[in-house]
Amino acid sequence: MRESVAIYPGSFDPLTLGHDDIIRRSLRLFDRLVIGVAHTATQSKSGLFSVAERVELIREAYADESRVETVAFSGLLVEFARERGARILIRGLRAVSDFEYEFQMALMNRSLWPEIEVLFMTPDTAHTFLSSSLVRQVGRLGGDVSKFVLPLVHGRMTERFAASDGE
Ligand code: ADP
Repeated sequence: MRESVAIYPGSFDPLTLGHDDIIRRSLRLFDRLVIGVAHTATQSKSGLFSVAERVELIREAYADESRVETVAFSGLLVEFARERGARILIRGLRAVSDFEYEFQMALMNRSLWPEIEVLFMTPDTAHTFLSSSLVRQVGRLGGDVSKFVLPLVHGRMTERFAASDGE
């Protein structure tokens, strides 16, 4: 039987417990998961880690999970999914506010590649309010974000903020 491969794309700047929640849920459903770290055309000023750093961090976080593969990608998501043999596209839905954009994207991606199936997953309620941008902002202002990210990510964020304080 052909193995089931899902793709979970995003910015992951940084990876949060909300992402981790969706990753764990996906691993219960599919044989393999490709985490695609998107190259954004213009790295925004508020960005924390480079794409290469994010890929590295996620690889470390799932080093024990041989079914997870993390790669950077740029260009069309459906092309990337096709190259990787992934027909299932995972997206997280936290609130109604995510819906409109996600719905549009899902339909666009499906019209670009009709074979793709988009699957929305909802995290545990404890993670529904989490977003990378909020975690970045709070962390930058010195707030405790250890409850929102894996210890590994927290350590790396602390180092990054300490380094930028010294600038
Ligand atoms: P993007 O720029 O593609 O939105 P993100 O890294 O912010 O990148 O999010 C990647 C995916 O993870 C999106 O589908 C997003 O809805 C989902 N996601 C982000 N945070 C959470 C969370 N706390 N719980 C569940 N899903 C989430």
